[in-house]
Amino acid sequence: MEEQLKNILKKVIIAKLGEHIDVNVDDLSKQSHTKIDIKCDMCDKKMNQSYYAYNKNIKQQGFYACNDCKQIKIEKTKYRKIWL
Ligand SMILES: [Zn+2]
Repeated sequence: MEEQLKNILKKVIIAKLGEHIDVNVDDLSKQSHTKIDIKCDMCDKKMNQSYYAYNKNIKQQGFYACNDCKQIKIEKTKYRKIWL
């Protein structure tokens, strides 16, 4: 097994044990349910969300916002789409 792959697996196992670790997101598969720290695009509030959920949001909406900001951001995006 490649050394790099071994290191990634080690990190994932540690993450599953509940320890907080720094992982390069490039190391994670887009389907990974590993929790990562995400900053809201609008208010900079930090959240802990799975990488999978994060990617789903980015894919669907093109941004990641916390629950408080999500609705506002969606409205703004709609507005921009209409008037541009
Ligand atoms: Zn927010």
